[in-house]
Amino acid sequence: MDTKLSKETLCVQAGWEPKNGEPRVLPIYQSTTFKYDTSEQMARLFDLKDSGYFYTRLQNPTNDAVASKITALEGGVAGMLTSSGQAANFYAVFNICEAGDHFVCSSTIYGGTFNLFAVTMKKLGIECTFIDAEASEEEISQAFRPNTKCLFGETISNPGINVLDIEKFARIAHKHGVPLIVDNTFATPINCRPFEWGADIVTHSTTKYMDGHATCVGGAIIDSGNFDWEAHADKFPGLTQPDESYHGLTYTKAFGKMAYITKATAQLMRDLGSIQSPENAFLLNLGLETLHLRVPRHCENAQKVAEWLEKNPKVKWVNYCGLKSNKYYELAQKYMPNGSCGVIAFGLKGSREEAIRFMDSLKLVCIVTHVADARTCVLHPASHTHRQLSDEQLIEAGVAPDLIRLSVGIENVNDIISDLEQAMKCI
Ligand SMILES: *Cc1c(COP(=O)(O)O)cnc(C)c1O
Repeated sequence: MDTKLSKETLCVQAGWEPKNGEPRVLPIYQSTTFKYDTSEQMARLFDLKDSGYFYTRLQNPTNDAVASKITALEGGVAGMLTSSGQAANFYAVFNICEAGDHFVCSSTIYGGTFNLFAVTMKKLGIECTFIDAEASEEEISQAFRPNTKCLFGETISNPGINVLDIEKFARIAHKHGVPLIVDNTFATPINCRPFEWGADIVTHSTTKYMDGHATCVGGAIIDSGNFDWEAHADKFPGLTQPDESYHGLTYTKAFGKMAYITKATAQLMRDLGSIQSPENAFLLNLGLETLHLRVPRHCENAQKVAEWLEKNPKVKWVNYCGLKSNKYYELAQKYMPNGSCGVIAFGLKGSREEAIRFMDSLKLVCIVTHVADARTCVLHPASHTHRQLSDEQLIEAGVAPDLIRLSVGIENVNDIISDLEQAMKCI
């Protein structure tokens, strides 16, 4: 599909382009396997000499259609779906890091990603240095080592709502000859396309706004095709040296700009699985068809709720980058002039118990471990998603112990505010 088309059109139409007589709507290819006429044809697929489907653990046509829609929205050259956002972030880094390698990451990231990078990847021999994203380029540069393989950050951090200076991060990464990977879950390509600001690889938890209805856990990895792996061949032998498991094929030589995604599919999906189910991909696609309608409404509602919270005497602080008073307002205006996201972080005056009582008194707004779906919901990260972090780590991750994460949905905003108001009266 013509990727010059507007985002709205890509949301509705990109990905599945039926040929004559084929279903208008993306079919669910609910099949683990695919049929070939000759043994030779199948063998060529296993050697990566032909492209085609043979087993859904590696690739499935429904998934690929949806991945190509997200790729078009992000302005990338290749993409893949994963079973979760966690799998997407793991694969995005693990595709270019192995035991003995190191990478650098903003400390203000999603708690699950923090745990993956700080604890689980360390067990695999991959070390991550977390840095203050607001430190100077010189200070952040000091974290880089000869074995550093990438820099990682979130466009808008979950749950702190810190905005990443993508251009600054891209400059630092490229100065050290490594790609910048950006988790663009909260902004979505509707509000920000990190590739336009120098990011090389984008990841998503499609579980959030992309699905938008809280039905399917999923993830995506999109490659801009801009990072020159060959120019830093010694750093990325997995892409630039022969792969013994495919008869000595070299990804950059065989696949050019598709090298990174092809390697992630051919090696990581083959060996580790974590494919998204075709049925979930179908539902994700339905979500994507209205992403361009829902995201602006989330932002409009969140702006009104944030302004209301800011004026409320029971509220100690509000962090929403659409507020003029916010530390990230300028950065948000630069990278996301049409709106940022529907998620607000705030703290109440009074004790932790009062915060809990406020949340328990909400009626329309539910306590759920989720963000970024159509229904307004609330969570206390220090007691829920981030409970494995110490208070020190919480603060480092941009999560104050009193932080309440409010994910503003697409209901009528007056009903959302009325519910918050009645719950405030209960504390
Ligand atoms: C939720 C989330 C993840 C993890 O995604 P899952 O789909 O839950 O595995 C990663 N990054 C961000 C920014 C998230 O909000």
